[in-house]
Amino acid sequence: MTTPPPQQPPLSQLFHHDNTTSYLDAVALGARTVADHLDRGGRPATGRDARSAAARVAAVDLDAPLGDAASAVEELSRLWLQDTVWFHEPAYAAHLNCPVAVPALLAEVLISSVNASLDTFDQSVGATFIERHLVDWTAGRIHGPDHVGGDGIFTSGGTQSNLQGLLLARDHALAAGAPADRLRILASTQAHFSVQKAARLLGLGDAAVLGVPIDAGRRMDPAALARALDGVAAAGDVPMAVVATAGTTDFGAIDPLPELAALARRHGAWLHVDAAYGGGLLASRTRRHLLAGIEHADSVTVDFHKTWFQPVSASALVVRDGATLRHVTWHADYLNPKDAAHPNQVDKSLQTTRRFDALKLWMTLRTMGADTVGDWFDAAIDLAAAVAERVAAAPDLELAAPPSLSTVVFRYAPAGVDGAHLDALNTRLRAALYDSGRAMVAATKVDGRTFLKLTLLNPRADVEQLAGLLDLLRETGAGLAAELVVGRPPRQRALHLVEAVR
Ligand SMILES: *Cc1c(COP(=O)(O)O)cnc(C)c1O
Repeated sequence: MTTPPPQQPPLSQLFHHDNTTSYLDAVALGARTVADHLDRGGRPATGRDARSAAARVAAVDLDAPLGDAASAVEELSRLWLQDTVWFHEPAYAAHLNCPVAVPALLAEVLISSVNASLDTFDQSVGATFIERHLVDWTAGRIHGPDHVGGDGIFTSGGTQSNLQGLLLARDHALAAGAPADRLRILASTQAHFSVQKAARLLGLGDAAVLGVPIDAGRRMDPAALARALDGVAAAGDVPMAVVATAGTTDFGAIDPLPELAALARRHGAWLHVDAAYGGGLLASRTRRHLLAGIEHADSVTVDFHKTWFQPVSASALVVRDGATLRHVTWHADYLNPKDAAHPNQVDKSLQTTRRFDALKLWMTLRTMGADTVGDWFDAAIDLAAAVAERVAAAPDLELAAPPSLSTVVFRYAPAGVDGAHLDALNTRLRAALYDSGRAMVAATKVDGRTFLKLTLLNPRADVEQLAGLLDLLRETGAGLAAELVVGRPPRQRALHLVEAVR
């Protein structure tokens, strides 16, 4: 038996012009609630374990509404907000989550409240042109001011942008007469897994993606690409696309774009540049040159929700030749007929109904400008260099490689611990830091061994704060190493997390 919902005045929760009081109250309550939770005394997390987080949520009876927003928000604080991870804390250094620009948060209120859909002009009016203007502006930063014919579309993220880029590449190859079962994608062994996923979704299969070896800087080795392309030709296969990564997720490595572009062109392959991470350099006043060669790309992925300090979701796929977007066009009589009187964006998108995410970037650029965005990313890159120096100088820390962008890959390696024990120690160390709530770092594998990773995207964080994180990490690690050596069982909570993240 469920309790009957409390009686409410009819339509009081429906947003309309006579009901702005409840709207303004709701938005203010939301903003105040977030503001009230923001300060956790420097702790990015509370260490809430997955089991108890799941139990709290599962206990909610969704058929028994609470009847008012204040009660629902209060409940939500317990279920989520009090334990959520804060990306604005300097000790948050795990994944590619960024602290967000305030003008973009203002935009979020406008986006959801107006609820425009960017598929057609008659559902969005000026919004269609705001998105187009931003795509043109981004394309200008990629291809240079003199290039004409570029275009693109906002997407839900780098995964979708990569999928669409590769879809265009596939259909471009098929249109030129290539047999579907011969199509090959060449990406470095460090490329994002969404490339592999895209190949599956596009019906090309896992084997269609050839992993090209990397050089000492973890960039795709052009000589290895040349050999791979020759191998593709010798087998009678078709090099559908070369995927260059501009900022690998772990090491921030930027593949040598000019060389890869020349090879792709020589072999008639589509060049897709995955700049989901490194795309922020397009706004940098000092490091734009690191992306030299990106102007040759047939398609480019840019994630505004990573290095442009935008709330999730905000990403774009930008193409050199807008006509290639026809490969995702389908005409529906009721939406975008061939003889439509108005322009539309649905012709260029994998999505139909689509959020006006572009407005976040628009408000950011119109309020504070691109230079500030670029300065913020530059600050994170400078910080990574400084932190890497501290890591290199610490006798019990081992730096995997000098940073390329804003990640620092390293491991805790005290004297007397080696091999598989080091892997277990670093895995536990990461979990113990989360459990403490005081810091969050990521983990990855380097040549089969477990390493830790700091992903720095906080322009407010300074090197002393990160040095404090390293001290905490080494102290915590020393405690865990002692347990390992003595052979005592690790603390239970740390084990729970390890299980939960598997
Ligand atoms: C994050 C990332 C992606 C995936 O982007 P999402 O926005 O998470 O879908 C793709 N490529 C690279 C290099 C990334 O770092």
